[in-house]
Order: sequence, then C-alpha cells, then structure tokens
Amino acid sequence: MFGLMQQHELLISGLIEFAQSNHADTEIISRRVEGDIHRSNWAQVAKRAKQIANALKHMDLAVGSRVATIAWNGYRHLELYFGVSGTARILHTINPRLHPDQLAWIVNHAEDEVLCFDMSFLPIVQAIHAKTPTVRHWIALCDADRLPSDSGIPGLQSYEAWMGSQSSEFEWPIFDEHTASSLCYTSGTTGHPKGTLYSHRSTLLHAFGSALPDVMNMSATDSVLPVVPMFHVNAWGLPYSSAMVGAKLVFPGPALDGKSVYELIEQEQVTFAAGVPTVWQMLLSHMKPLNARFSSLKRTVIGGSACPPAMIHTFKEEYGVEVLHAWGMTELSPLGTLCSLKNKHMALPEGERMKIRLKQGRSFFGVDLKILNDQGQRQVHDGKSYGDLYAKGSWVIKKYFKEIDTALIDGWFPTGDVATIDEDGYMQVVDRTKDVIKSGGEWISSIDIENIAVSHPHVAMAACIAIADPKWDERPIVVVVKKPGLALSKEELLAFYVGKTAKWQIPDDVIFVESIPIGATGKILKTKLREDLFKHKQS
Ligand code: ADP
Repeated sequence: MFGLMQQHELLISGLIEFAQSNHADTEIISRRVEGDIHRSNWAQVAKRAKQIANALKHMDLAVGSRVATIAWNGYRHLELYFGVSGTARILHTINPRLHPDQLAWIVNHAEDEVLCFDMSFLPIVQAIHAKTPTVRHWIALCDADRLPSDSGIPGLQSYEAWMGSQSSEFEWPIFDEHTASSLCYTSGTTGHPKGTLYSHRSTLLHAFGSALPDVMNMSATDSVLPVVPMFHVNAWGLPYSSAMVGAKLVFPGPALDGKSVYELIEQEQVTFAAGVPTVWQMLLSHMKPLNARFSSLKRTVIGGSACPPAMIHTFKEEYGVEVLHAWGMTELSPLGTLCSLKNKHMALPEGERMKIRLKQGRSFFGVDLKILNDQGQRQVHDGKSYGDLYAKGSWVIKKYFKEIDTALIDGWFPTGDVATIDEDGYMQVVDRTKDVIKSGGEWISSIDIENIAVSHPHVAMAACIAIADPKWDERPIVVVVKKPGLALSKEELLAFYVGKTAKWQIPDDVIFVESIPIGATGKILKTKLREDLFKHKQS
C-alpha cells in the first residue's frame, strides 16, 4: 500500500522560488572583479535567474546541454547556478587555476556549448577558444560598456547585454528530479580529470543534510562567506543550502588574501565561513600582527585537506571561533563527514573535547562509511584499525561522466583515503592512499608528520613526502617553509618531534624551501613537490 502524500520533484528551481518568496530582501553581497562591493538580494537573484532562463531559451540550446563558467564567487555566478540548472541544462563549473591545456581538455570532454567567464579570465579564454570547437557562445560576466572591442573572441557578448534585456517572467519547468544539474571535474592530479555529474535530487538532499544542526548548522540568521570557490564542488553546496534556509551570502570575488577576507567578514558581519586551510592560514597571518579581532564570526568549516590542530586551537582559544573540521570530495557533493560533538562529550574537559574535534568527524544521515583492510575485510571501528575508506549514499557518485564502467566496488565508492573510524563513528583520515609512507611494513601518516611541524611556532607550512630507502622501502622527509624572519635549524625541528610521535616515525630529513607548490583547489601539490625536489637533487 502506498502512502497518500503529495509527490513533488526535488528541483533546484524550488530553492530559488522558496528564497524569493520567503527571504526576498535577504542580502547577497559580492566583491566584484571590478573592485567594488555589489549589493543584491534573493529576490533579485530569482528575477535575474529567470532572465537567464529566457536568454537560454532563445539560444537554441537543448535541454541537457552544458553551460560552463570560469568565474569567481559572485552574484552573477549565483544567478547562473539557478538559471541554468533550473531549465534542465547543466552548469559546468571550471577551475581556472588549471593549466589551459587541461581546461581545453575539460571543455571538450564536457562538450560545453556556452562559456561564461569573469573578465579577469579573458587571457585563459583567449588561450583556449580556438581549441574548443563545441563552444558556440562566449559570454563575459560584465556590463556591456566593459566589453573589450579587440578581445579576439568571435561573437563575445557581455552578460548584462545577453540576459539584461530578457523578460523576468518565466515558469520553471517541472521534470524528473534525477535529471543532471551540474558537472564538476576532479582536479586530476593523476591522469585526466574525471567529471562528477550531480542531479537535482542529489543536490537537494545534500543541501538538506549539510544544513542540519550537527553539520553546518545553517539558518536565516547566518551571514555566510563561502571562501571555497564556486568552481570547487559547488562551493561545498553553500549556494543551495543558503537558499534553502534563507541565509545572507557574502562572496569574496577574486580577493582571497588575508586583509580582504578579514575586511569582508567585519563589514558584512559574517557569522559562518568556509574554506581550505591555506586560506585561513593567510587570514590568521594577517590578523596576528595587528592584534585584530572578529566581531561577528562564530564558526568556520575547514576541509579539503587536513586542518592542522594548531589552527583549530588558534581559532578557538585566541578568537573564540568554533572550527568545524569536515571531510569530503568532489564525488561526494562534497560532504561526507563533519566533526561536531555528541551530548556525552559535553561533560568532558576541554582538552578531551579538542581531541575529538581534530578528527574529520562523523557521517550524518545520508552517507554510510566503511573501512576495509588489504584483504577486503571490514575493519573494526575502534579508532585504531585503519583501512581503505568507502562511501555510499544518495549524494555519492555512481559513475563518472561519459565512463562506461561503474565507479563502485560492491555498491560502495572507494574514496582513495585511508582512515580509522572510532566506536562513536568519528572518522579520521590517516592519509591519501598515494601519500601514506610505507616504512618497514608499517604505515606513517604524512598528515601526522605535517601537523607536528606546523605546531612549531617558527613553521608556516610543511609537507611530508616519502623518499625511497633501501632498507625500509620508504622513509618520511619533511619539507618546510619558515615564518618570515624566524630562524629554525634542521636539528631543532627534528628534536621537536621527540615525544610527539614514535621514534621510527620521525622524519629522516628536513628540507627548507621558500614555498611549497599549491594546486588548483588550494591543496599542497605533492606530485609537483616530489618532482621539484628530485630535480633539485640532480642539479
Ligand atoms: P581532488 O581529489 O581532486 O583533490 P577533492 O577536492 O574532491 O578533489 O579532494 C578530495 C580529497 O581531499 C579527499 O579524498 C581527501 O584525501 C582530501 N580531504 C578532504 N577533506 C579533508 C580533510 N578534512 N582532511 C584530510 N583530507 C581531506
């Protein structure tokens, strides 16, 4: 017997309709490429999303075709999120930090037909436009009078001219909630990038799940700053979850330096921010010498790579900001776990609670996790036994875009991470499978070695990598960037490790460098680092 309740498709257009009806005047603030601050609101976004829908209708663009963006976080990008997906076309957000050859490869693989870009990315577009024959329409996200006459891009239009003259009357179509809504490629540090094709249903369920109190705890009282780019897994779903709860959104545009982010947080009274650790490192380095304080920021979700314990401490102890450590990946929309405490932890001393907060967190309803050993057997959840981490759930990938084979093993997605899970369900990433150091049959977590290094007051950044060793197979070495003007010797740093980790896990060597290569999503590029060091050794 079926239940007798209504059936409504879970569609992205429903989010913007809701935000328009219930949170019309809630602000959407953007620092623009033009340099100024632009003020909009959910009603404006909804109206302009409909103008985009009409503009697309007049373009002879089939349902399911791909509309790409190469853009910073801002209101125009947000309008495209709703305008494109709302009409059953697919928004393909592209990471501009990739190499132009890789960008062209992605555009061709996705068969993008429209490409919208911020003017600061014009040089990239000039480099790729002749190599991307599927793109029929090039749209610069700017006013008509800012369009250069000599761009070299045939038929280049300004966004405002393209959509600005369209009617804002549009009835969002109703279609199957399993329809594809957006496309995001993994950064492809090994091999070609692979596309994750989200659906309306997966996007909405992820938004419901991520907004829960024990997850991102989002509400209409929040002023949300996604520092995480809208080209990096849909800014962790924040555009959708903010529309769902009616939160204010604050977009940083291209200005991600510590000073600009700090000023924006203060000016727009941001309560909740999200980003990768490298961004917060820049923010904290800016604030420290000025003795600056936050007047509104309450919590920040940090993920994408392991958040160093020292950062969680600094945010909490010095600034009174709660860090929510989160783990996820493109293939998980991206949220898999988030670290929030349980009732039974409330009575624990702060030191004990901090130990829990350092983990990547527990999964929430909608995501299942398991860890398997080398023989494919389930490992016990005791917080010590580690294994390959697998995920399953309604916002977890099934198959990569245009691939024939499933991405799953026995119905579960292999994440490529090695992890432990404790009795309470808290997961801790030991390492990426490819980064873990295998020394004498035992594993050393590069994350642990890096965390100890960055807890030294003179260390700005650290990366631990393996070097081949005839006796032990692999041994760890740590590559370190010192804080400006501060001295540190190899011996001092190695001595700092004593007592903080097992003796055999202490790195064999310390290499001081001026900078460590950072990849397109703000993570340390260990492949490049290994290459650079290898070259350095040969020369
Ligand atoms: P890519 O794999 O292309 O870098 P993602 O941004 O999807 O793309 O990265 C996912 C990976 O990032 C995870 O598999 C994991 O290794 C790492 N990661 C994400 N969040 C964390 C975290 N909080 N701690 C440690 N590693 C993390």
